[in-house]
Amino acid sequence: MSEPVAFSDLARAAYCPRQLYYARREDRDPPPEHDRARDLAAQYDALAVAADAALATYDLAVEPPEFRSNLRASLDRHGRVADPAETAAYVRGKDAHGRVGKVHTGPLSVSIVTPGSPPEAGVWEPQSVRAVAAAKALAWREEQPVERAYVEYARHGVVRELSLTTRRKAAYRRALRAARALDGPPPRLHDDAKCGACEYREECGAKTRTLRSLLSSGD
Ligand code: SF4
Repeated sequence: MSEPVAFSDLARAAYCPRQLYYARREDRDPPPEHDRARDLAAQYDALAVAADAALATYDLAVEPPEFRSNLRASLDRHGRVADPAETAAYVRGKDAHGRVGKVHTGPLSVSIVTPGSPPEAGVWEPQSVRAVAAAKALAWREEQPVERAYVEYARHGVVRELSLTTRRKAAYRRALRAARALDGPPPRLHDDAKCGACEYREECGAKTRTLRSLLSSGD
């Protein structure tokens, strides 16, 4: 049986297999905003009633009034994220392992906590893959199904719920295959949005459209 793959590797494989190749070679520590997001996610009830001056002392991605309004709306819909059964729990499943932001019971579900920004609706694909990986690992540990997960964009006060649909599970399996098959650098994506935001773009040498137009304007 293959060794379980790290949740973080699966999220990278979903973003770009080549990025995973660089991340495995370099083994960088996660940036500090990850810890700050987890710190925010641990005190939602207090933050939802905190004054602007108090909120301004935190690493928020939006202004305090917007954060408070987002958080109150999130807690109205998904209040259980403020009272998890476990936090920062290490979970090892059959195919994947890693730390989950929160574990909820009744029904069993998981939260992924991210310092990033939410999309207009739903969640970004790498976070969906990570959430499915965490949910499946928890299901393996608890020997019962996990059908829902949450992605907490903690620095925005935004919480999105997702169900483990056939499409999401298929994306997870694709990422698992890509992570297991990695052997040498995969091809570049040529995706301006993804490459422009990628922390490994210099090593990779991918040229975004802005750079390509600058280079071609010098021809
Ligand atoms: S720059 Fe683009 S192709 Fe290169 S690793 Fe990053 S996302 Fe992948």
